[in-house]
Amino acid sequence: MNELSITKYIEQAKQTLFSFELLPPLKGQNFDSIQQAIDPLVEFNPAFINITYHQQEVVYEPVDNGLMKKHTVRKRPGTVGISAAIKYRYGIPVVPHIICGGFTREETENALIDLSFLGIKNVLAIRGDPQPGMKQFIPEKEGNAHAIDLVRQIEALNRADYIEKDLKNTRATDFCIGVAGYPEKHSESPNMESDIHFLKKKIEAGASYVVTQMFFDNQKYFDFVKICREKGIQVPIIPGLKPLTSLSQIASLPKTFNVDLPEKLVKEVIKCNDNKAVRQVGVEWAIQQSKELLDFGVPVLHFYTMGKSDNIRQIAKAVF
Ligand code: FAD
Repeated sequence: MNELSITKYIEQAKQTLFSFELLPPLKGQNFDSIQQAIDPLVEFNPAFINITYHQQEVVYEPVDNGLMKKHTVRKRPGTVGISAAIKYRYGIPVVPHIICGGFTREETENALIDLSFLGIKNVLAIRGDPQPGMKQFIPEKEGNAHAIDLVRQIEALNRADYIEKDLKNTRATDFCIGVAGYPEKHSESPNMESDIHFLKKKIEAGASYVVTQMFFDNQKYFDFVKICREKGIQVPIIPGLKPLTSLSQIASLPKTFNVDLPEKLVKEVIKCNDNKAVRQVGVEWAIQQSKELLDFGVPVLHFYTMGKSDNIRQIAKAVF
C-alpha cells in the first residue's frame, strides 16, 4: 500500500475526514487490544490512525539496606511495530508520533530510517512531556530540545542530509510532518502570542499541518484558527476531540492538558451516578462539538481514543 501525505488526503477529500489516535498497549499485551480498538471503527473509513510514543520513565526500586535502585522502563513500547502492523493488516495509513524526549538525534534518525523502510510516510513531530515526576522537560544530551528541532531533523532527511556527512549516494526520505497546536495555549507558554509564534516557526521549518490539543468549547478552536490565519499560518488545522469518560477527568484534564471545561458540561457530568453515565454525557457532548465543527468545514475530525473505541463508534455513527 502506497501511502500519500496527510495533506494530500485532505486535498483530495470531498468531505471532512475521520481519524483517531491510539496508545500502544501496556508492555506485556499483544496486538489484540489494538485490534479491539480499531475493528469497531473500520466501517467509518478512517483516513489515518495516529499512534502515540511514550517516553521511558525513571523508577526507583527498593533494594537491601533501605537503598533504592534506579532504572528506566518504557511502559508502552511498540509505536513503530504497531504502526507497521496496522498499515499492513488494515491498509489504513498510519501516523506514528516521534518525540524528542529520551532520544538522541542519532536514535531519532535510525527510527526515521526504520519508518521509511516500512513505507510509512507520515509522522507527528512532538517534543514530549516532562518525565513523570519532573517539572521540566529535559532533552537528551545529544537530543532535540523542541519539536521544531525534530521538524528540522526530519526535513534534513527529506533532503538526504544525514547526521554523518560522509555517507555516499544517500537517498532522501519523503516524510509529511504534522505538529501539535494548542487552542488554549501550551501550559508552559507565557501567552497565546508566544505559543503561536513558535507554532508558526514549526510550519516554516517544514511542518505541513497542525493537530490540536483536545478542547471542549468549539469557540476556543474557532478563535485559535482565526489568530493562526491572521499570523500567516495557512496549513490545515485538525481539531482533536476527546469525549469525557469518567468523573475524575473534570479535575484531571484541566490540570494535565491546560484545557477549560465549560460549566454546562461540568454540570451534566456532576449529575451522573456512575462513569457509565459520564461516558454517555461525553459522547453526546462530542457529537454536538463534531456537528458544529463539520458545519465550520474542518478538514478532519480527529479523536483521542485512549485505547477504547466504543464511545468513538457512537460518535462516528452519529456524525459520519
Ligand atoms: P514544542 O513545540 O516544543 O512546544 C513546547 C513549549 O515550548 C510551548 O510552550 C512552545 O510555545 C515553546 N516553544 C516551542 N518552540 C520553542 C523554541 N524554539 N524556543 C522556546 N520555546 C519554544 N506527548 C508524548 O509524550 N507522546 C505523544 O505521542 C504525544 N502526542 C501528542 C499529540 C498531540 C496532537 C498533542 C497536542 C500533544 C501530544 N503529546 C504527546 C503531548 C506533548 O508532548 C506535550 O504537549 C508537550 O509538552 C509539548 O509538545 P510540543 O510538540 O507542542 O512541543
